[in-house]
Amino acid sequence: MLPLSLLTRRSLPSSASSRNRLGLLSRQFSQTTFAMAPISKETDFLVIGGGSGGLAAARAASSRYGARAMIIEGKRLGGTCVNVGCVPKKVTYNAAAIAETIHQAKAYGFNVQETAPFDWTTFKKKRDAYVARLNGIYERNLGNDKVEYVHGWARLLSRNEVEVTLDDGSKTVVCANKILIAVGGYPTPPPAIPGAEFGTNSDGFFDIDTLPRRVALVGAGYISVEFAGMFNALGVETHLFIRYDTFLRHFDPMIQEGVTKEYERLGVRVHKRSALTRVDKDPATGKLTLRYREGGEGSAEETLPEVDHLIWAIGRKPATDGLGLEAAGVETDEKGYIKVDGYQNTSVENIYALGDVTGRVELTPVAIAAGRRLAARLYGPEQFRTAKLDYENIPSVVFAHPEVGAIGLTEPQAVEKYGKENVKVYKTNFIAMYYAMMDPADKAPTAYKLVCVGPEERVVGLHIMGLGSGEILQGFGVAIKMGATKADFDNCVAIHPTSAEELVTLR
Ligand code: FAD
Ligand code: NDP
Repeated sequence: MLPLSLLTRRSLPSSASSRNRLGLLSRQFSQTTFAMAPISKETDFLVIGGGSGGLAAARAASSRYGARAMIIEGKRLGGTCVNVGCVPKKVTYNAAAIAETIHQAKAYGFNVQETAPFDWTTFKKKRDAYVARLNGIYERNLGNDKVEYVHGWARLLSRNEVEVTLDDGSKTVVCANKILIAVGGYPTPPPAIPGAEFGTNSDGFFDIDTLPRRVALVGAGYISVEFAGMFNALGVETHLFIRYDTFLRHFDPMIQEGVTKEYERLGVRVHKRSALTRVDKDPATGKLTLRYREGGEGSAEETLPEVDHLIWAIGRKPATDGLGLEAAGVETDEKGYIKVDGYQNTSVENIYALGDVTGRVELTPVAIAAGRRLAARLYGPEQFRTAKLDYENIPSVVFAHPEVGAIGLTEPQAVEKYGKENVKVYKTNFIAMYYAMMDPADKAPTAYKLVCVGPEERVVGLHIMGLGSGEILQGFGVAIKMGATKADFDNCVAIHPTSAEELVTLR
């Protein structure tokens, strides 16, 4: 038998005999696939995209269930989260939190410098090195788990063939029994205003190598709110342009209003009901001048000069361009996201998709959980045949200042779903004991809300804002996922003195 690397498509026999020779081909080759690059690889489970979801699925399929798995990644292993997302973002958030702590330390009797200089350049180099270390760890993990790793860009040729363009420009074709598409997304390009291209996006944020003096962000979601809070805490003059009166509009009104107000109190210039109209760049200094309208219809144009960086953070789009979805017959929705059912099945048998490319809850742990369940369902023992991710009640946190977290329904969503008469809300506002020693200007707010339904007061929503929300929410998420009621919350004895104890003593 010829080695696979010497077989070309033209020399492949018909599908029945090719199945015998290759041991995996299950479909007729389409006419269009002839005269392509030589088939040089084959696998059972081919994963396109080495990000959160793809890595989790490929590693689980191979290491836990013994499937022959291969992963194709065009950029850097770890995907968005590790390279230009959660990880470098949280490290930067930690730096911002340290800046805040240094300021707060005085109130506790520490004789610290009010303005401890922050060396962004050194910080960035260390952050980059940490990410590079993680890239290496991910690659070694693939080796340990016996997942074949190919660095290149993948394109579907048919239902079971993928062409990979390798780093040297050469192409190779991989045949697979099953294909998982986990290609993630990319930042939504800015609107068509003159000079929009002088701005950058969340990827560009991680390239900034000196501490800016003045920045502007456009967007009202996770990214703009997180970045604005970090810049502001690090002493950068921060302008946040939003289309409405509050940001984080997918969150409960308590969170939207609470965090927007707090950002303004902390000194972030929140430009409400605003839109940029033009951006100019000074070729000598590289500084930007922004023109914008603020306050809605009919407002006069205003100018913001000397801006070091403009960051567009107005959502993300699925990375499906040039992926060959049409060649395989994989359907997308009107926004370009790959359509999947609850089991991550696409419209084509044996092709699956998960993570950001499906547009469902764009979070790393969601992609990972979906990936592991898919691997279990496809390659695991019988008891996993119906394994799938439950997309209900997924907790999430915005690393804002202060942190905010939510799980389940907002109050308006609960009222709409169950009727006002069936919804009972418990809430509290207070100043955490951590701030007791500080001046009023340094005291950040804490606010909690529990949304309950029915006579048994089942908790269908939890919304928290304040110190440590990211850590607090995880445990409460377990309780809510298990169907906890208000009485269950109350039956758990408080841990004192903490902020979270307020959640089990709400009246
Ligand atoms: P990705 O991680 O994006 O991986 C997709 C991979 O596929 C990429 O590496 C890409 O290069 C590769 N690829 C694409 N096309 C091809 C192709 N044709 N061939 C080969 N390879 C290809 N989530 C959280 O849970 N917590 C956070 O704190 C958080 N912070 C974030 C901060 C920022 C700034 C951003 C942008 C996102 C953040 N997220 C966070 C979201 C999180 O990063 C994503 O939800 C997650 O990475 C999605 O995983 P994925 O596997 O679907 O895609
Ligand atoms: P989001 O979808 O969170 O928010 C983008 C917001 O920008 C929109 O909701 C909209 O808000 C506003 N917007 C949209 N278009 C425009 C426009 N043309 N001009 C001005 N504003 C506009 O997207 P992000 O880019 O912030 O983040 C992408 C995803 O990444 C998030 O949804 C989240 O899933 C994930 N992520 C998670 C994090 C975490 O878990 N901590 C952190 C970062 C990202 P409005 O309608 O109010 O104007």
